[in-house]
Amino acid sequence: MMKVAIIPVTPFQQNCALIWDDETGKGAVIDPGGDVPRIMAAISDQKVSVETIFLTHGHIDHAGGADELAKALGVPIHGPDRRDKFLLDSLPETGLNFGVSAPAVTPDEWLAEGETINIGGQVFDVLHCPGHTPGSVVFINKAHKFGVFGDVLFRNSVGRTDFAYGDTDALITAIKTKLMVLPDDFSFICGHGVASTIGAERRSNPFIR
Ligand SMILES: [Zn+2]
Repeated sequence: MMKVAIIPVTPFQQNCALIWDDETGKGAVIDPGGDVPRIMAAISDQKVSVETIFLTHGHIDHAGGADELAKALGVPIHGPDRRDKFLLDSLPETGLNFGVSAPAVTPDEWLAEGETINIGGQVFDVLHCPGHTPGSVVFINKAHKFGVFGDVLFRNSVGRTDFAYGDTDALITAIKTKLMVLPDDFSFICGHGVASTIGAERRSNPFIR
């Protein structure tokens, strides 16, 4: 069975996700934004053998701890889409603004629309959903109707697009054409706050009417 643990990290309370198969113990970490000792503690508490770190996008609260965690675990970093390279390259400067030290991240592999990734034996599709950042991706597992959406879609909200590189039209188009086509009982965790379902957002999210 697929298990999921949410580890809120950084002052932004970003939802780092630890996902694993409870029979094999194999799994992955998605968006280790910081507080790496806390993530390491969760991995050891659940006795997960982490094989890969995945990133949904290049923002510091999602990627700031990726380099440290990758080195501590000896695992590769995959994602996001390469259009977020400028964000990952500038993490040290961004960190200065927030008073944290975050090394730049050089992913071992970029991810692209249509690819699949493996988390503990489960297959997740990679969907490119730009707008919050140019290289944002989400991960969806059709078999379990479960996804990790980063900062693309939230409960009753959507990712902010007020950055110089933000694109509201692209974000809403991606949500409508790639996510709202999923079934009502498809559940997802987002980068911040509580989880939701596609059905709940179809009914009440004011940004995608
Ligand atoms: Zn973000």
